[in-house]
Amino acid sequence: MKKWLLCIGGQFLVTILLSQNITYARHIVDTLTSSYFEGRGVENQGEKKAATYIAKEFNRLGINPIDSTYFQEFNYPINTITGRLSVQIDDVILVAGKDYIVGANSSAIAGKFELVWYNKTNLPTNKQLKKLVERNFFMNKFIVIDDEGVDKDNELFQRLKLNFYGAAGLIFLEKKLTKHLSQSYQDYAVLHISKERMDRNTRSITLEINQKFIQNYQSQNVIGLVPGTLYPDSFIVFSAHYDHLGKMGDDVYFPGANDNASGVAMLLDLATYYARKEPPKKTMVFIAFGAEESGLVGSKYFVEHPTIELKKIKFEINLDVIGTGDEGIMVVNGAIHEKEFQRLQTINTKNNYVAAVKKRGKAANSDHYWFSEKGIPAFFIYALGGIAAYHDVDDVAKTLPLNEFEDCFRLIRDFVDEL
Ligand SMILES: [Zn+2]
Repeated sequence: MKKWLLCIGGQFLVTILLSQNITYARHIVDTLTSSYFEGRGVENQGEKKAATYIAKEFNRLGINPIDSTYFQEFNYPINTITGRLSVQIDDVILVAGKDYIVGANSSAIAGKFELVWYNKTNLPTNKQLKKLVERNFFMNKFIVIDDEGVDKDNELFQRLKLNFYGAAGLIFLEKKLTKHLSQSYQDYAVLHISKERMDRNTRSITLEINQKFIQNYQSQNVIGLVPGTLYPDSFIVFSAHYDHLGKMGDDVYFPGANDNASGVAMLLDLATYYARKEPPKKTMVFIAFGAEESGLVGSKYFVEHPTIELKKIKFEINLDVIGTGDEGIMVVNGAIHEKEFQRLQTINTKNNYVAAVKKRGKAANSDHYWFSEKGIPAFFIYALGGIAAYHDVDDVAKTLPLNEFEDCFRLIRDFVDEL
């Protein structure tokens, strides 16, 4: 540390050190959410650009590759909604991303279609439906499904949702639009439309959806490590997925600031710490996983084709959606690894880092899952509270607070110290 820094008041010094860390995290989030990466999906290889960027950061920080490469390639199928996209209901033009989202498993379609509405008040009986199907009633029509107030197990509604009746497309009315990805597609169109944008009197839909199914898309995990000084054969693995939902049509991309540019920022912050500031006793492994949003594909591939010895992994810490924290953090598997969870809580209480450290059991909701399934102790940490944006166009860098980011970092660092 430079001498002149020591002359400055303690509080100011702390502020400088803090802001350096958070400045880097902010830079990573801003970069990964920029239009160059196009939502880090498969469209125009946005996810590949992100992987390349992370590998460059690994290299700059002095993180070691494994067998002279940072990349582990794998292939998987993916359905994409690309090219021209337009949706109009009666004579109202809808805005992609804001008013509607195309279903992950939608097929392509173009034309004008009549609408048939079903909600809790007008569900037909089995017999009525049978008659309608017999005379091809649903052919060249879109079924609008408003399942508010309908019993979740209602069999007819379940069958409507799977388009048992041969409609050209399905429209789901939603209170909140949430985008997903799919490794397959249906032979009909699927749309999710904001409920407040669609009037019950709407009669028709005019739309164009273009879709491309890619059978064998090549993605990659980005893997590097910092060798331990005392116990090089004992590994701590940090992971965060760098991919997100990519694009929808020509004009919309999903930035994924919280999900999961924030986790990548934390991964790179930890990499900086161990590579540049505090040489670790154990070997620290850093993995940025690809294709998480398509069904935890990259992490599954990694545990099935490990480039490090899995039995040497002492603990795995997965970071996904860590850009808020007003209400503390959630630890998936915290209820399974009680001893480690207690330690995390004790560190937090002693240092007053985050508002709460909560636990839950096993869940297949991020990349830690395949490690757990292999019997490797793993925590998945995500932040609680703050913004409501999730898997939508509002998950942007500008509104991501990162207000507990530094405290989360310290909590993880101290926890790893004691492992
Ligand atoms: Zn995520």
